[in-house]
Amino acid sequence: MNFELPDELLLVQQTVREFVEDALIPLETEIPDPEELPDETRAHLERRVKEMGFWALSVPEEYGGGGLGQLGAIIVLEQVSRCVVGDIRDSRGFGGNPWPVLYELNQEQRDRFLGPIVEGSASDFFAVTEPGAGNDMNAISTRATLEGDQWAINGSKSFITGARTAQFGVVVAATDAGVGRERELSAFLVERDTPGFEIWGPHRTMGGARVYELTFTNCRVPTENLIGEPGDGRRLAAETLLQTRLRQGAYSLGLAQRALELAVKHAVERLTFGRRLIERGAIQEMISASSGDLRAARLCVYTAAHAADEGRIDQLAVARAKCLAAAVGSRVIDRAIQIHGGSGVMRDFVLERMYRDQRGLRITEGSEEVHKWVIARSLLRTSSREYVGQS
Ligand SMILES: Cc1cc2nc3c(=O)[nH]c(=O)nc-3n(C[C@H](O)[C@H](O)[C@H](O)COP(=O)(O)OP(=O)(O)OC[C@H]3O[C@@H](n4cnc5c(N)ncnc54)[C@H](O)[C@@H]3O)c2cc1C
Repeated sequence: MNFELPDELLLVQQTVREFVEDALIPLETEIPDPEELPDETRAHLERRVKEMGFWALSVPEEYGGGGLGQLGAIIVLEQVSRCVVGDIRDSRGFGGNPWPVLYELNQEQRDRFLGPIVEGSASDFFAVTEPGAGNDMNAISTRATLEGDQWAINGSKSFITGARTAQFGVVVAATDAGVGRERELSAFLVERDTPGFEIWGPHRTMGGARVYELTFTNCRVPTENLIGEPGDGRRLAAETLLQTRLRQGAYSLGLAQRALELAVKHAVERLTFGRRLIERGAIQEMISASSGDLRAARLCVYTAAHAADEGRIDQLAVARAKCLAAAVGSRVIDRAIQIHGGSGVMRDFVLERMYRDQRGLRITEGSEEVHKWVIARSLLRTSSREYVGQS
């Protein structure tokens, strides 16, 4: 059994790490407000990323992308997340990767919607969450009703990333009057200028992310904008989130890795009571715990991504990876701040921003408690089967 990355991915990891050190981390002090990545800076980064061959890297080759797969995308995102400039969801130059639901489009839809994203002339959003429906997709109340050759969408979505700059997005809406799990959910491609569709915000989070509210008032989309069949929305959303949750795990790994590196550096350099911090048992205990935590979380994220690349994507593995990585990220950053003492909580030091950025990752794309619920239910099912088998 080999737990090491293949040579190709080690090279990708090294190349992106050097890019992050050379092009991204200096921006944390160079640009006046590190939460806002200026347009010209983003355009410059995009050009460099394209030159390096890392644009649209996770998109399958058949759709014009780099074909690096889930594990490759995770490796890149982990490195990119070591820097805190802008919002990681802006990709910091590593664009061209759509929400995975777009791979489910038919040929005509792919030409119109997926192609421009891979080329870099468009971006998308993915709207599931509503004021009354976050973790619980069954509570979605946005409705789409078929009227002639158009769907009329009415309702609202909340906390939607990237909506302001996107040319279109995927909106999940109920297409019958069923209740709970019986409710038929469907997914629609909605273009930005469609009458009746409005975008509100941004709403700023405590970290770098900005989110938007969307409202749909008799917003009419043609029937050819339905993805798959009516009723496919729940499956499409669930499959998409399985993939993007792994990416969320990678954000946490990157933040935690940088925090640990900073903690070790500080512990080696800082003298107190005549000795370096690294010589103290209390500090070694925090550093060794962070190192072990990070290794465990990385193994969970990498193995889940590897399984996904082999077509064995598994809800339990993804829940465990996302949930553990987010919790570990918070713990490792918190310990790094403690090791830095007063300088750790200064607003102009990167750890403070990392602490704020990391917090949201325990909530976005399914929050901690719900992932733990998924894990526990899965184990409960297995143990009941074993019990029945034994009796
Ligand atoms: C920065 C950011 C970006 C986002 N981007 C998008 C986006 O692009 N598209 C999109 O669709 N959504 C997006 N979201 C929404 C995000 O996915 C939801 O916030 C998340 O799923 C949680 O839903 P909620 O906020 O409604 O919390 P709720 O579901 O109301 O949960 C509230 C709390 O209760 C807990 N809880 C809920 N159910 C249970 C249970 N059964 N047992 C125990 N505890 C439970 C939760 O863990 C949580 O702690 C974004 C959110 C943020 C903050």
